[in-house]
Amino acid sequence: MLTPVPPSLTRRQDLLGLLDPQTVYDMAIVGGGATGLGLALDAASRGYSVVLVESDDFAKGTSSRSTKLVHGGVRYLAQGNIALVREALHERSNLLRNAPHIAQPLPFVMPTYSWWDKFFYGAGLKMYDALAGKAGLGKTAFLSSDETLHCLPTVQPSGLHGGVKYWDGQFNDSKLALALVRSAALQGALLLNYVRASSLRYAAGKVCGIRCTDALTDQVMDIQARCVVNATGVWVDSLREQDGTVEAMVAPSQGVHIVVDKKFFPGKAALMVPKTADGRVLFAVPWLGKVILGTTDTPRHDLAREPLAFEEEIDFILSESARYLRLAPTRADVKSIWVGLRPLVKPPKEEGDNTKALSREHTVLVSASGLVTVTGGKWTTYRAMAQDVMDKCLESHLIEPKGASVTEHLTLVGAEATDAAPVSIGEPEGLHSYGSEQAWVEALPGHDHWLCDGLSEAMVRFAARYEYAVRVEDVLARRSRLLFLDAQLAAQLAPQVGEILFSETGLEPDVDGFVRLAKQYTLQA
Ligand SMILES: Cc1cc2nc3c(=O)[nH]c(=O)nc-3n(C[C@H](O)[C@H](O)[C@H](O)COP(=O)(O)OP(=O)(O)OC[C@H]3O[C@@H](n4cnc5c(N)ncnc54)[C@H](O)[C@@H]3O)c2cc1C
Repeated sequence: MLTPVPPSLTRRQDLLGLLDPQTVYDMAIVGGGATGLGLALDAASRGYSVVLVESDDFAKGTSSRSTKLVHGGVRYLAQGNIALVREALHERSNLLRNAPHIAQPLPFVMPTYSWWDKFFYGAGLKMYDALAGKAGLGKTAFLSSDETLHCLPTVQPSGLHGGVKYWDGQFNDSKLALALVRSAALQGALLLNYVRASSLRYAAGKVCGIRCTDALTDQVMDIQARCVVNATGVWVDSLREQDGTVEAMVAPSQGVHIVVDKKFFPGKAALMVPKTADGRVLFAVPWLGKVILGTTDTPRHDLAREPLAFEEEIDFILSESARYLRLAPTRADVKSIWVGLRPLVKPPKEEGDNTKALSREHTVLVSASGLVTVTGGKWTTYRAMAQDVMDKCLESHLIEPKGASVTEHLTLVGAEATDAAPVSIGEPEGLHSYGSEQAWVEALPGHDHWLCDGLSEAMVRFAARYEYAVRVEDVLARRSRLLFLDAQLAAQLAPQVGEILFSETGLEPDVDGFVRLAKQYTLQA
């Protein structure tokens, strides 16, 4: 059944036409990842006028490359960061409630090979439960070796002592980003992808707006704003430098993920290894019918938009997986490989290149000119980060008070509880992630023309009409997740997707650019 309110159209020319150079907006946000989008929703839903610009597509940066966990962070508990874990557990439950079509609970099993590990990690995870309190998703349980093998059928049985099962959440990160974009737009914010903030504008020494360039036409646009927020993730130091700050705030760290077929890791639970050979955490997570293996934590000083994995990172993930899985994937089994950059906030004094030790918390700074910068944190805590930014803006008198945040109980576009096909399994049609908007997809031309499992012609049309998609990459990487699940198949479908997109938007869909990019996501590149 169609929802009574149709989805809002996102024709690029119309959206650009809404940008008024004479208006002084309350807030101009630079960066359309989790942080900027969460802020746009918070500010717009309090009644502020908001413009957000994203130089590429929404969630093109780190926010589409996470491990897809909505979590308190078991490893931060091990580091003794109780406040961070408690906040994240609270936000975990907000997110699962406000976007149930995109984020759901998932059981995790930690296999143990000694009684001490079972006791030690089990006790820690009982504390994780206690910290979650009413926001808990299920009780931590000690498992026998048979029960562990039942949950993780392909885990190494030799020497297996048992396991510990606990609960966290899982989500589809770029779909959540789009739900935030569309929810913020419903609250009156204007959000533009493919518009880059090229410089800051000043009046009497204070930041009063941004100069932007349309990345598709090179047209220059000025935006006036009372408050400018730099939410550009690992790239925040570039705008800060323009603003006169010389000391870098971010120490980027690279995380690689590998995707393989479900046969290597069947079952409904995720695998969590708390301490790999070099002291990291490794996950095997069922996601949209495939399995994500990862991740790494490697310092990285260049800030490419499409960073490449180091050979040793690939070897590390495959060799660690082989220690825990009976049927170990090899390089030939890799369906997709993708890399994200963590915006880790530097401590006041450099403590070397050990990024595992850097803070996972977020930081909000206001410069002498009034430029607000927010970075760090994690996807799970995007909502709390937005509240902190708003508090800082109010404290610094950059905006007038208008009322408290309402996002804790604000459901996102499409929110509809579903237990038909959770994110971990996916379903052949892939319609569940549209939640209450599913019927709108099915009403579009091509709803019965399937390009592959999980992607129909109608979905491409929906992406162009209602989800801001311009390029083939926008559809195949972030509206559908095919690039992240099977890069070769994604490349094969690019021409068809390009044709449908062009028929909807009349804009160049850049098929060739996508095919080149997809090569980078395979190990044959
Ligand atoms: C490997 C890895 C795994 C992770 N796993 C998890 C997880 O499982 N769960 C979890 O909760 N968190 C996880 N995180 C953390 C989480 O993904 C990040 O904290 C979050 O996505 C950061 O969002 P952001 O908006 O700050 O940055 P980004 O998503 O990078 O957004 C910044 C945006 O700014 C844009 N931009 C840059 N310059 C400009 C400009 N001049 N003009 C306009 N736009 C500009 C960029 O294009 C980019 O889209 C993970 C991170 C990594 C790296």
